Amino acid sequence: MTVGPLPAPWHLPFELAWEALRAGSRPVGAVLYGPEGNVVASGRNRSREPDAPPGQLAGTDLAHAEVNALAQLPAGRHHPGHRLYTTVEPCLLCSSALMHAHVPHVVFAAPDERWRGVERVPEVGGAIGARWAQREGPLTGPLRPLARFGGLLMEVWEALHQPERVPPHTPARRLLDAGLLDAPTAEAAYALAAPELAGPEPTHPESVRTDPTHRQSAGPESAAP
Ligand SMILES: [Zn+2]
Repeated sequence: MTVGPLPAPWHLPFELAWEALRAGSRPVGAVLYGPEGNVVASGRNRSREPDAPPGQLAGTDLAHAEVNALAQLPAGRHHPGHRLYTTVEPCLLCSSALMHAHVPHVVFAAPDERWRGVERVPEVGGAIGARWAQREGPLTGPLRPLARFGGLLMEVWEALHQPERVPPHTPARRLLDAGLLDAPTAEAAYALAAPELAGPEPTHPESVRTDPTHRQSAGPESAAP
């Protein structure tokens, strides 16, 4: 299959994920868009790096992309109409960070089976149920290759850093053999990975759990960056 360019709201999150992969950290990127599609904050995973911009985390297992984006928001404010776009399904830490940062909506590209069940946390009710961010993902339909790309980057990271977990002849290993890491940008890596991005739609409980009034969105419609 062939793929077009990375669609607007996903371009920056994936470029950040690519930057993280090339720096040795887990390839996850996150961008917070305001109601007009403006970039409010962005961050990436920096767990395997010594340095981060002021106010962000590095060199710790807590240095997740979503946390590093949300940590830039001023305290004590709510962010109605804001959406965090992240390349991989938010873990429990990042889901909680969304709640504490008063960001009401998160859209993710790839599912992460490790965190299966986190979407049921708001069922406990109370403040958690009331403040839990609406989750949207994984991407399906025409955006399905992006979901696969987000997951594939994580598999590439594992092939590089936890090779015992990745069997031979997987798409990640094929792409590494094809020189994936030489791609200068996520856009170039996406094009190189295109032959590995086909596959069936994922089955995922959140696809049906998402509020039916919210269509599967490619991003802020009008003023996408
Ligand atoms: Zn996380």
